[in-house]
Amino acid sequence: SPFPAVLLETAGLCKNFRGLKALRDHALRVAPGEILGVIGPNGSGKSTLFNVITGFSPPSAGRVCLNGIEVTGWRPDAIVRQGIARTFQGSRLFKALTAAENIEAAAQLALRPGLFSTLLRPPGYRRRTDEIVAIGQQMLDLVGLGKWGDRRAGDLPYGAQRRLEIARAMATKPKLLMLDEPAAGLNTHETAELMTLIRQLRELYGVAVIIVEHDMDLIGTLCERIQVLAQGTVIGEGSFAAIQDNIRVREAYLGH
Ligand code: ADP
Ligand code: MG
Repeated sequence: SPFPAVLLETAGLCKNFRGLKALRDHALRVAPGEILGVIGPNGSGKSTLFNVITGFSPPSAGRVCLNGIEVTGWRPDAIVRQGIARTFQGSRLFKALTAAENIEAAAQLALRPGLFSTLLRPPGYRRRTDEIVAIGQQMLDLVGLGKWGDRRAGDLPYGAQRRLEIARAMATKPKLLMLDEPAAGLNTHETAELMTLIRQLRELYGVAVIIVEHDMDLIGTLCERIQVLAQGTVIGEGSFAAIQDNIRVREAYLGH
């Protein structure tokens, strides 16, 4: 088989903030093309996990491997080029740039190593090659923003900004897409559209997806497997039905 059985693997992953153990001995395996949910109460370490995997925050211990290559401690831009893209809880678009420019900056980062130090830095040097422009338009079309490329990102409606963030992440051609609370602030209709989009991304590009979300309808509908965190520790893992039956999970959520 051309694909390894495991795309992402973490082991013994820890993150300490002074005395606080935000992540403890975390372990996870994600298969190529899998859609995995990560849930847990506020402060349970979900965003910390994303930051540690994507190089935004170095782990205190443990390792992160993608396709069998250890990427622990790599810089964010190197991890993007290795095939992991993410969105943030709360928008981090370049609001003064156009929608197309936001995507093109990400595509350049992935295609032209060494130009930018991180995905979050607006491009000081840009060359709009035909390839970059084509990727930008393809990604805008993909998320239903095909006619909005020239708009300032900050002027787009909230739901469109969230879709633009996904388009920007996909422009780096990731093998793994990590979405931190993508449905936060979306209405029911927009959430349904988001679910359709995430399924399309997997079908069209074979991308694996890790979704952190509080919307249990979305998690139960989309995710083949769910991992539950509480106080930085994995307290359950399995199908939606299995974790709903898990007593530790029920205690963490319901307090009884
Ligand atoms: P979640 O995303 O599950 O809500 P976080 O990963 O954001 O949780 O936070 C986990 C814990 O780590 C929380 O107690 C939070 O206050 C703490 N934490 C997160 N980031 C930092 C930081 N940069 N400095 C200190 N504490 C942090
Ligand atoms: Mg969070």
